[in-house]
Amino acid sequence: MKRLKQYSFWEYMRVLLVFIAGLAVSLLVFSYNVQVRTEQNVEELLDYNIDHQQSQLKFMLNTQFIYLGNIADYVAKEDSLMCEKNQELLSCMTQDTLFHAISIIDTDGNGVTNDGKEQKVADRDYFKRTMKGEEVLSDPLYSSLDGKRRVVLSVPIKKNGEIIGAVAGSFDMVKLSQILFEDVYQGKGYPMITTWEGKIIAVESDEIKDLQDENLFEIYQGKFGRNRERLESARQDFKFHRKNCIKVKYKKQAYYIAYESLGYNQWMLCYTVPVSVASEEYSFITVYEYRLLGAVIVGVLIMLLVLWKLNQKKQTDLINRAQMDSMTNILNKSSIQYQINDWLQHGEKEGIQALLMLDLDQFKNINDTYGHALGDEVIKAAAKVLKDTFRSSDIVGRAGGDEFMVLMKNVRWDKVIERQLQELCHKFENLKIGSIPCGAIHCSIGAAYYPDHGMNFDELYHYADEALYEAKRQGRNTYVIYHQEKKA
Ligand code: GH3
Ligand code: MG
Repeated sequence: MKRLKQYSFWEYMRVLLVFIAGLAVSLLVFSYNVQVRTEQNVEELLDYNIDHQQSQLKFMLNTQFIYLGNIADYVAKEDSLMCEKNQELLSCMTQDTLFHAISIIDTDGNGVTNDGKEQKVADRDYFKRTMKGEEVLSDPLYSSLDGKRRVVLSVPIKKNGEIIGAVAGSFDMVKLSQILFEDVYQGKGYPMITTWEGKIIAVESDEIKDLQDENLFEIYQGKFGRNRERLESARQDFKFHRKNCIKVKYKKQAYYIAYESLGYNQWMLCYTVPVSVASEEYSFITVYEYRLLGAVIVGVLIMLLVLWKLNQKKQTDLINRAQMDSMTNILNKSSIQYQINDWLQHGEKEGIQALLMLDLDQFKNINDTYGHALGDEVIKAAAKVLKDTFRSSDIVGRAGGDEFMVLMKNVRWDKVIERQLQELCHKFENLKIGSIPCGAIHCSIGAAYYPDHGMNFDELYHYADEALYEAKRQGRNTYVIYHQEKKA
């Protein structure tokens, strides 16, 4: 019985483990896919942002170029570039613009600013390129007038197709930073403009203004160069003005860096934001994932419990079915034999252990007279009489057909046994089942005692059976104790 139970348990466990493993794998795959999809969404949003900001910045620079171009067209109309009229015009030109200063420059590089200051810019790269007809946005440079760091936008002044000078407007790096986009992540991310080599030209962040002139790749290199590969691929992207988004670790936090070519001077527009901030919008998914996991764990535990209980019940049913006689619901022959043997060998025995063999008298006649169905009822009633007569600790079973077996445990005096047997015969005589009247049902009983007549089941069974035979021989409706004969 025990072997059967354990085997079934492990069978269940095996199936369950496979099920749980399958469930765990499904959950992992699900979480992984959600994670990947979330990252894609975040990266798409960053991509959209940086696109949007790039076009905004380009639009603003174009507007400034158009503004300077209009001035250039206007000043070209005068005979002399540096005439008073042009200077007057210039003096009111910086109002309501981004420019810190606007100057008119002749072909020798001598310029005059809107506030009348003179400057020499002949050796400036932006001037040289403008003289070749280009509209130029300079790299950050230090002003020859006040030494401050500025960028310059310059356009050529053309008259009759000839370049006769340049109009240049300078603005602070701070202004350039401020044009950068309003942060979509409530100030937790920040935009930057860098050269293609990664040198930061402008950065819009209150916290990290000192990053100016630093190199983006060196900042994010991190300890142990753990971002090396990603930064190397970004470096290549910068070199070839490609747009992309990478993830790096910096000061124990993960960051996204999205970047795109600005379209001027090989500058790159970058946007960096902590991953936790960028993914915040999707954090509810993680909460749901935890809830789902919790629900699954609880579900599996409940299922385990239910299966365990069902298994227990099934095992108990199986054991009962294997042990019990299905008609009478008392022990069957093999179980009663097993239990009696077990008790005789291992039980805490005191006094007499009496084995009784009981057989209904002329039962064939009952069947023949009242029918087989009523005969069955008699057998059931006989089993009930036995169960009601003996103690619950005694062993009561059906040995087969109309024969029953009882082991009375720990009886102090044999008189008690005899009294029980008399009472039993009496009870059978008084049975009335259906149309079978009182006095029609009788039984014969044979008994043998442990330890007097035998020390094990086989011996006791043998003598009890002999005694039963003797009872039948004596005319039935009586009991016989082995070696003794008594009338009920
Ligand atoms: P005896 O006094 O010598 O015991 O006579 P008997 O007619 O009872 O003979 P025996 O015990 O040898 O036969 C038992 C009969 O019980 C045989 C069979 O027809 C009947 N029987 C056995 N099992 C069942 C059962 O499950 N239901 C019914 N109705 N009858 C059964
Ligand atoms: Mg019989």
